[in-house]
Amino acid sequence: MTALRGSCLCGEVAFEIEGPFDRFLNCHCSRCRKATGSAHACEVIVKAGALRWLRGETSVRRFDLPNARSFATAFCGTCGSPPHLTRSGREAIIHAGAFDQPLGAAPERHVQWASRADWYVHGNELPTED
Ligand SMILES: [Zn+2]
Ligand SMILES: [Zn+2]
Repeated sequence: MTALRGSCLCGEVAFEIEGPFDRFLNCHCSRCRKATGSAHACEVIVKAGALRWLRGETSVRRFDLPNARSFATAFCGTCGSPPHLTRSGREAIIHAGAFDQPLGAAPERHVQWASRADWYVHGNELPTED
């Protein structure tokens, strides 16, 4: 896999990931739901060294949830949610929607499944429209 680029909504922050991905997960925990505002986070996880900032690293704000052992998130100070390193510093977590190009990969599992929202419906159970 070659380098994959991503950015935040306003474009101030941009990054590049050197593949392959270690994991590609849909996380249903309540923290990820609040951090993303969505039914689940869709997370690419790589070794910390595989993440390179292309611009805007100093615009990234980080939030380490005080009561959590390891939960953290990060966001562009102007608009959104760039990648962040885990507290151990060993891995980087990228919300998959931040990538600017096709990934050639798909999530491999749902995690924290028991914590999913009671309104969550698997995608293939819903009708589709464009
Ligand atoms: Zn931004
Ligand atoms: Zn989670």
